[in-house]
Amino acid sequence: MKQTELTPPQKQQLRTRLENQLTELEQQVCAIHIRGVPVQLDQQAVGRVSRIDAIQQQQMAQANEAQTSRQLQRIRQILLDPDEYGFCHECGESIGIGRLTIHPTAELCIQCQGELENL
Ligand SMILES: [Zn+2]
Repeated sequence: MKQTELTPPQKQQLRTRLENQLTELEQQVCAIHIRGVPVQLDQQAVGRVSRIDAIQQQQMAQANEAQTSRQLQRIRQILLDPDEYGFCHECGESIGIGRLTIHPTAELCIQCQGELENL
């Protein structure tokens, strides 16, 4: 089923959402850097279990940070190149407002995404 292309107001609305999300993500990244990700592993102060906890927390924080910076890059790319926005990177068809409302940073239409996941 072919999706209709985004109307200019729909595009504008999604753009505003992405701009807000970009600001939020940038603040998150700042917060991570202020907090300082490396966890101090004091052999004497923490037991084995809490050391594992600390390492896991650090790994989670790093994974989060990696995801956040990927998301940031994606949003920046969309905002820089708005003409490309809303079209599937795979087949070039319109992704459709329904899907973009749920996933504003979607790069693939629902069909291509489905094919990718079913491989
Ligand atoms: Zn597609």
